[in-house]
Amino acid sequence: MLLTNIHQLLQVRPATTRRIAGADMAKLPLINDAYLLIEDGLISDFGPMAYAPTDYTGDIIDCDGQLVLPTWCDSHTHIVYAGDRSHEWVARLEGKTYAEIAAAGGGILNSAKRLNETPEEDLYQQSKTRLETVMALGTGAIEIKSGYGLTVEGELKMLRVIRRLREEYPIPIKATFLGAHAIPANYKTDKAGYLRMLTDELMPKIAEEGLADFVDVFCEDGYFSVEDTELVMVAGIKHGLVPKIHVNQFTTLGGVAAAVQHGALSVDHLEELSEADVEALKGSETMPVALPGCSFFLGIPYTPARRLMDAGLPVALATDYNPGSAPSGNMNFALSLACTQMKMLPEEAINAATLNGAYAMGLEKELGSITVGKRANLLITKRLPSFGALPYNFGMPTVSQVVINGAFL
Ligand SMILES: [Zn+2]
Repeated sequence: MLLTNIHQLLQVRPATTRRIAGADMAKLPLINDAYLLIEDGLISDFGPMAYAPTDYTGDIIDCDGQLVLPTWCDSHTHIVYAGDRSHEWVARLEGKTYAEIAAAGGGILNSAKRLNETPEEDLYQQSKTRLETVMALGTGAIEIKSGYGLTVEGELKMLRVIRRLREEYPIPIKATFLGAHAIPANYKTDKAGYLRMLTDELMPKIAEEGLADFVDVFCEDGYFSVEDTELVMVAGIKHGLVPKIHVNQFTTLGGVAAAVQHGALSVDHLEELSEADVEALKGSETMPVALPGCSFFLGIPYTPARRLMDAGLPVALATDYNPGSAPSGNMNFALSLACTQMKMLPEEAINAATLNGAYAMGLEKELGSITVGKRANLLITKRLPSFGALPYNFGMPTVSQVVINGAFL
């Protein structure tokens, strides 16, 4: 397939660029009036229209007035869940307290109960609908977490659903084991016992079946301490799982430094951020990930992306698509929130949602930029004056077509 007359071809990078940090995030390399050639599902050539092949015999797509960029890389989601929690959300609007909702079986533990009652096939059907929805919105690579099972069978069921999604859909899907998401009711007074179940019983099974790439922990007051987080990370690493950690959503406990020390690929949330956290991230390989949809929906602070970038650090954007705190997987909206609420520039938001998102999943060699040899996972926008119009038109459908491995969705 040959794309011609592309108004702006965005995020053109050499293969050596693994991620973008600090002041470089404000730069978005592009080619005006460009062409792009796709062969065998990969980007095989691109450049200014003056150099476009003239003897091409395959499909030619005229992108007059449209922008072309890499698909979004959503590095943090929980899209495998049973039912939703809209009734809880409505109860909150009606004035019920979180404690009342939790006492009535709400929260993560409610999601866990429903998940354990839901047959695997049903769970797969619900999850695939969500995956198809976000792919149509422009997501071309995604990470999905377990963490609503909180039992051996429930966690394995979630991870097997993720494996089946990976087998049946053409986009890269990474699986994360988040058994340490909450402490289930039957372990309420025995957290150590629950952690032992995760590390000694579940992890060997996950490793044996190759069900996960990453290990995650909800490091937060009332959930898992820094010490617990380290224990799970160490066990995960032993079983071949790279840490990716939920940290600093509500409190700063020192989890960021611990995650960096254990070579975490990413630290996600960071709505609260101390100077020590920023210092710990400097010089590390760990990607800070902001989840603005969660801040929007809960009305909590946004991740201070400007502070991170001013410190020379990279930032990635993800949706956190989940039934409790962010029931939306729309990366286009995450981009708008990043610009309107976190005061990121459109260039910074696009870098954060493409190459840095790919890095946060270990996919930066195959996705996230317009680079010869990378997968042809591309967004073709509607007719737009410039890339700034992507976050500007918040909530509007700006994507015209999604290309995955060189084929239209
Ligand atoms: Zn999350």
